[in-house]
Amino acid sequence: MPYTLLIRNCGQLLTLSGGPTHRPLTGPDLASWLILENAFVACENERIVALGLMAELDESQITPATQIVDAQGKVVMPGLVECHTHLVFAGNRAHEFQRKLQGESYLDILASGGGILSTVRATRAASEAELLDNALRHLRDFRRYGVTTVEAKSGYGLDRETELRLVRVARQAGRQQPVRVVPTFLGAHVVPPEYKGRPADYLDFLAAEVLPALRGEAEFVDIFCEQGAFSVEDSRRYLQQARELGFGLKIHAEQLHDLGGSAMAAELGAVSVDHCDYLNAEDAATIAAGGQTVVVLLPLVPLFLRQETYAPGRQLIEQGLPVAISTDFNPGSCPSKNLWLALSVACLKMGLTPLEAIAGVTLNAAWALNRATEIGSIAVGKRADILVLDVPDYQQIPYWLGENPVREVIIGGVTSALEAP
Ligand SMILES: [Zn+2]
Repeated sequence: MPYTLLIRNCGQLLTLSGGPTHRPLTGPDLASWLILENAFVACENERIVALGLMAELDESQITPATQIVDAQGKVVMPGLVECHTHLVFAGNRAHEFQRKLQGESYLDILASGGGILSTVRATRAASEAELLDNALRHLRDFRRYGVTTVEAKSGYGLDRETELRLVRVARQAGRQQPVRVVPTFLGAHVVPPEYKGRPADYLDFLAAEVLPALRGEAEFVDIFCEQGAFSVEDSRRYLQQARELGFGLKIHAEQLHDLGGSAMAAELGAVSVDHCDYLNAEDAATIAAGGQTVVVLLPLVPLFLRQETYAPGRQLIEQGLPVAISTDFNPGSCPSKNLWLALSVACLKMGLTPLEAIAGVTLNAAWALNRATEIGSIAVGKRADILVLDVPDYQQIPYWLGENPVREVIIGGVTSALEAP
């Protein structure tokens, strides 16, 4: 079958391939994947079928029906994988920005009924149509940044009806536009007012009344293991119940304190442990020994919360941990969808190199969603989720701080206008 899409004259083709295929990239593999210069990528419908140097291009596969994209010597790379967002919510928390600047901490604001709980009130009051509209707008923004897969957590309902609605909206949003949406259930985000002081009872309710209704609807179950939210022991019991029901596991842990949630979740086989700003070296070694759990770094969160402590990314890589990078897009601790900015801050504040950081927003992020056989690299057989950038060299990606280098976004072999709604 002839090519349906050909991207030619790629100045640098960042394939992210050439390393191990059975596990996420770690150590030197994070930075030693293949870059082809003056190269092409060819697709048949939604799949990549060939790539190589321009001199090796098989012109006989090009027909008048082949769509040709000329990269004009610029960088071409896999679509970004955004592996940790709180996509579906109502309202915003701009009013808390000032309080933060005046020195109130995240946990102070939460304790006074603000923070997550103010978004919960707005989200419970919103209609399904309004929530869907918000999610679609955010997905359109993500696509402009070159994000082709988005993980979407629930967690601003904290009751059965609203939590099920949030997962439903995430799935519906995924069907209505090209960016792939991976739903995660985070009903265990904080303890709702109705269960104040009874976190274990709330988790029992979720496990008995909500999780069974989400089989086949949400792929992962996540929990916020932190002071003021859920303890390590309560989190362990809940994640075990979720695992028995067949869900993949994720955890928010070591964001503000070192409680041990990350190592606990890794021992249960979690696909990712997220935040890890306060992760200690011993627990990092425990996670590394498991070999499959990805540490998701969220560098825009400490930046936005005005924290001094960032996850020790460099040290984690040297300890053999696979790292990914995400925005943690949410209305409280990171109202940004700019994964390129997160990538730059991971270099500046966590010690990653540009090549490691690029792996962190592509292939390793795909591992954090259990989708590395489908997306995250440019390889024959993978889905044709591909970006054409406006920079000629990958070193310029983290360098142009806060800019969006994306010129063209291809999802499943289809180019789509970035201005379309
Ligand atoms: Zn989060």
